[in-house]
Parts: sequence; C-alpha cells; structure tokens
Amino acid sequence: MGKKVKTAITPTREEDYSQWYQEVVKASDMSENSPVRGCMVIKPWGYAIWENIQRQMDAMFKETGVKNAYFPLFIPLSYLEKEAEHVEGFAKECAVVTHHKLEKGENGRLVPAGELAEPLIVRPTSETIIGESMSRWTSSYRDLPILLNQWANVVRWEMRTRMFLRTSEFLWQEGHTAHATKEEAMERTLQMLEIYAKFVEERLAMPVIKGRKSESERFPGADDTTCIEAMMQDKRALQAGTSHFLGQNFAKGSNIKFQNEEGQESFAWTTSWGTSTRMIGGMIMVHSDDDGLVVPPRIAPAHVVILPIIKKGADNSEVQESAQALQAALRQQTFHGLPVEVEIDSRDIGGARGWDWVKKGIPVRVELGPRDIENNSLFMARRDTGEKKGINREAFINTIADILDDIQETLFQRAQAFREANTFSIDEKDQFYDLYKKANGYNNGAFVLAHWCGSDQCEEKIKQDLSVTIRCIPFDSPDEAGSCIYCGEKSDRRVLFAKAY
Ligand code: AMP
Repeated sequence: MGKKVKTAITPTREEDYSQWYQEVVKASDMSENSPVRGCMVIKPWGYAIWENIQRQMDAMFKETGVKNAYFPLFIPLSYLEKEAEHVEGFAKECAVVTHHKLEKGENGRLVPAGELAEPLIVRPTSETIIGESMSRWTSSYRDLPILLNQWANVVRWEMRTRMFLRTSEFLWQEGHTAHATKEEAMERTLQMLEIYAKFVEERLAMPVIKGRKSESERFPGADDTTCIEAMMQDKRALQAGTSHFLGQNFAKGSNIKFQNEEGQESFAWTTSWGTSTRMIGGMIMVHSDDDGLVVPPRIAPAHVVILPIIKKGADNSEVQESAQALQAALRQQTFHGLPVEVEIDSRDIGGARGWDWVKKGIPVRVELGPRDIENNSLFMARRDTGEKKGINREAFINTIADILDDIQETLFQRAQAFREANTFSIDEKDQFYDLYKKANGYNNGAFVLAHWCGSDQCEEKIKQDLSVTIRCIPFDSPDEAGSCIYCGEKSDRRVLFAKAY
C-alpha cells in the first residue's frame, strides 16, 4: 500500500488530467504545438489516424449519395453578412485578410500593402460560399437534392486552445445539402447524425448520446442543431459531431431558389454537418491511460509491432528473417476488409523500444527471440488490458483479426460502463449543485439527467453558477412530467447536463 506504481506518463490522470493529456499527445508522437498560436503540427502517427478517419467516414457518406467537392478558402466579407445570426456567431473569431502583398517599410521591415477593396474571411465554415454556388446550380426541383461534402481546414480564432480538442486552425469535413422540402432536409440532418454516431461508436469505440441542442447552443443561423456527446475520463462531455437543420435561413440569404413541381418559385431547405480533428482528442481522452495513448484497432495506423530480440555482436539474421516472415504472414490476414498493418522495430535501444510502442498505443506488441523461433511461438502483449502471454505462432496469425476485434470491443464496453457508472438522474437542486461544486481537475461531477423548464434564464444561471451546460436534449429522453432543477417550474422531459470541453 502507498507504493507509487511507476507509469510511463507523468503526471498521471489523477494528478493532473490536463497536463496528462498534453504528455500523452507528446509521448505518442502524434502532434506538437506550432510557432503559430493555437495551431498544431500533426506528425505522421497522428495524421495516419486522421487519414483512417477520412477514408472510413468518406465511404459512409458516399454510400448515402454524397459527393465530394472543394470550395475556396476565402470568403468575401459581404457573404458572411448574408445571414444575420451567422455573422454574429462567427464575427468574434474570424481571421481577416485585408492586404495582398508585402512591401519594405521605413525601417526596412516587411509591411502589408495593397489593401483589398473588400476584406476576405478565412473560412470558419462554408455555408455562405457554398450557398453562392448552390444558388447558381438550382433552378428547378429537378436540380435537387444537392448532396456535397468537403474535406478542408477552417480557422476559428479560439482564445483557449488545446491540441486536437480546440485549435484555431483545424481539419474537418463539412457536409452541405439542399433539398426541395423541409421533411427531406430534416431527414438528411438526422441521417448524417446517425452516421456520425455509428462511426464514432464502431470505429473510435466511443459511446455517444444523440440529441438536440438547446436554443442557446445552436449553430449560428440554424433552426435546429443535433449532436453527439461523449464522456471523457474526467467526466466532462465532448461534442464529437454536429448536424444542423438550417431551415430556409441560408437559402434566403444566398438566394437558393427553385421552381417546384407546381411551377411556383420556392426557397430550398438546407443542412450542414461537421466533424473535426477534435474526434482524435476525444479518442485520446476516452481510452488512454497512465502509460500513454491507446488506439482502437479499427482506426490504428498499425495494428501489430514486432520487436525482434536482437543480441549485440551476434548473428541476428535468423530472428530478422523470422520477423519479416511473420510480418508477411500477418499482412495476408484481413481486418474488416483491409490487410493487418504490421511494423517491425529493430532499433537497438533496450527497454525504451517496447515503451515507445506502449506510448503510441499500438493494439498488439509481439516479441520474437531465438527461443520463440525454436518453439514456433511468440510473446504477445495487448495494449488495452496489458495481458501478456506466449502463443503458438500459427495460432496468433490465424486469430489476429479476432484478437483485434476483441480489443475494439473491450475498449467500447469499458467506455460505456464508465459512462453508465457516472450518469445519474437528479431531481434535487441541492444535490445537483453539490455534485458539481465538488468537481476538480479529474473528477468533473457526472452526466446528469435532470428536468429543465426550457427557459434560457435557468440554463444561463446554471452555467454561471457551476460552468455546467445543457449538452443536449437526448432523443431517447422519454416524456416524463417533472419540475425544473433550477426554478421548479413544469418540465416534460429530462435533458443532459455536464461540464464540457
Ligand atoms: P460546428 O460547425 O460549430 O457545428 O462544428 C463542427 C464540428 O467541429 C463539431 O464537431 C465541433 O465539435 C468541431 N469543432 C468546432 N470548433 C472546433 C475547434 N476549434 N477545434 C476543433 N474542432 C472544432
């Protein structure tokens, strides 16, 4: 008792959760801070995860008829003004381009010159610029629906940034669709949210709650914002994706009109939906431990690393050849339709080699030495459970896909059990306040399902008092009479409260 277990990451989650997060990112070699405030350099191990996200999500979008396109990085200032709430929502965090060249100033230093007649906004999101194209592409109901997506970077001048979770420049996908009817647009909004939920649960192994945002948390200019929310290990919520029903607001602003089947002119109904590199931040926070990153197999850049046991000054060719043969045999196996990805790490750096891969979160590590080769076996370690065991070489090759599936499932089940153990229904205001007042860096209360009367004031008071917000009105929250956790007035369903990232 009392003996401190040595961990690969210091501080531990419990000691300083926020610092632990930064250290996990650093130790995994996924990304680093850039010289530009709030931006990050995404290194190969992090970018490969993003590429897997892109590839897999992209296929899911395309299955529903969505096509990819690309629109400009710059948006004329006047475009942003086309939707009143939209401009207000983004005005405070815009990067603005006002000049188009540099000249030597009086002291010999370069200064911006050539002022633009109209400033350009670096896109914080692309509704307005895509709307302009859509308005030119639609004249008849036959031109609809338009189902587009773009993979791009956007800029939002965030004040408090944290790698992956909130950066000033981030990578994302943004879907934009236009429809002839309100019903069809609403259906699309929910369809894309379902895809997000499926992707995040199935591939990132993060259980999510689907719901609708309260009015104050809506996307600027949207009639309805739906979202998926996940619980991190510090019991805070992370919004992992949003899908917006934009009504006719942006269609009116951008003049997206068409003649309907009856020959009448009508405005289109639009949607937009986005997920970003924040999902990687969520994945880190949900699964990683005090030894570093844990990557779910379905999104991992590599599934297995082989660590041949090399003897200094000896002839290691047999071990190296055996490692290569093992790599080749494993690559013949498929995991969800793709080859199992295998690295070999033969660096002569002692114990640090194994720990590097622990910290990178690779699902399975394999050690292979002369004695294993003699016995036709190998030594494997699972990153999720820490389980280590000797196993027959053929048995390992033949069951690798099952082992990876089991790791994926274990991670999801663990995250779900954690969320369930930390989700409560509360009806007493004192109990609600006590829970969140006790919050500290690692233990931020819980997910609380409580009644809310629907007023902005009650929502705002709770936010001011406790920094707790309504994460969403869950879709599966049943009709149930109750009284508002803040004012005691009538409420007909529970909403989800939490501290959030
Ligand atoms: P929005 O367009 O505001 O609905 O955001 C779309 C997606 O991008 C959501 O999943 C957000 O959680 C995510 N997101 C918003 N701001 C940032 C940011 N600064 N860094 C990373 N992801 C973000």
